[in-house]
Amino acid sequence: MEITITKTATPAPLKAEESLGFGKVFTDHMFVMDYNSESGWHDARIVPFGRISLHPASTVLHYGAEIFEGLKAYRRADGGVQLFRPMENIRRMNRSAERMCLPLLDEQDALQILETFVKLEERFVPYSFGTSLYLRPFLFGNDETLGVHAVHNATFMLIASPSGSYYKEGINPVNIMIESEDVRTVRGGTGFAKCGGNYAASTRAGERAAKMGYAQVLWLDGVERKYIEEVGAMNVMFKIGDEIVTPMLTGSILPGITRKSCIEVLKDLGYKVSERLLSVDELISALESGELKEAWGCGTAAVVSPIGKLAYGDKEYIVGDGKIGEITQQLYDLLTGIQWGKTEDKFGWVHKL
Ligand SMILES: *Cc1c(COP(=O)(O)O)cnc(C)c1O
Repeated sequence: MEITITKTATPAPLKAEESLGFGKVFTDHMFVMDYNSESGWHDARIVPFGRISLHPASTVLHYGAEIFEGLKAYRRADGGVQLFRPMENIRRMNRSAERMCLPLLDEQDALQILETFVKLEERFVPYSFGTSLYLRPFLFGNDETLGVHAVHNATFMLIASPSGSYYKEGINPVNIMIESEDVRTVRGGTGFAKCGGNYAASTRAGERAAKMGYAQVLWLDGVERKYIEEVGAMNVMFKIGDEIVTPMLTGSILPGITRKSCIEVLKDLGYKVSERLLSVDELISALESGELKEAWGCGTAAVVSPIGKLAYGDKEYIVGDGKIGEITQQLYDLLTGIQWGKTEDKFGWVHKL
């Protein structure tokens, strides 16, 4: 695929790595590519970062036809830059696109776009351990009509944001509230797709939890309000007795790449891992009996995020001893070690640029 590159005339100075937050500053350029049903994808281009112009009737603004991905470019100790399992993100983006009737990307083209863009913006990949260049590919319907149908025009873009370490102050366990009112998605809905609408619909519960002093909510399934699904916008895992349990992918759960990697690493370390239904009742009795040893969220942003306390109704339970668990720490060390190129990648997950 041919990608035309128009470089900025005003390259931005780099921000101090200690001052980087998440998603606040962007690199010099952005990738844009257009789609219409007659010509397919065309006009792949990297242009200076800037505002975009949309027709006020554009599909994305009215009917939420939008999907996205999130992955990182990591700086290795030897100065090189690498991605982590990028084909997984590309394939998931296509599964999301299919669900939302948005056009699919050619997998090899998508990889070429990621590689070309990150190489061009390489100077923005920060050097300290834990920092990264966060990559945000996104795709939206862009028909200039209020008619409701599968889109004929779409836009794919890629932007990048140098981001600081998620754990600047060390890995502190978070307190989580089990949500019994709102649901994130339902089976048959869009839960497995990474679409903006899922986020819009889950913001309210997150805000309510924050007001009550909790970092996030633990979602229950939308049909029976019984089975554990995810924590905030992360997948979730529990160590109950000597079994590691994570909710099975029923269609309303986002199939996280960190989740998949955790399962593979844990199995490789010899742990018993079950992807199965886990009811809130089973979870609460495991908390009450002391069988619940560890709980953690997992996703690209945090890698793993230990859960210190769980609230259900008017009761609050401490998970384990309230500190980061042994397996959670082991997973964190192994995955970050591979991602930042400090640990041998025996799984073949890293994609060097
Ligand atoms: C992106 C996301 C995750 C985590 O997926 P990763 O591929 O591990 O980053 C989990 N849940 C939701 C709802 C998400 O959007």
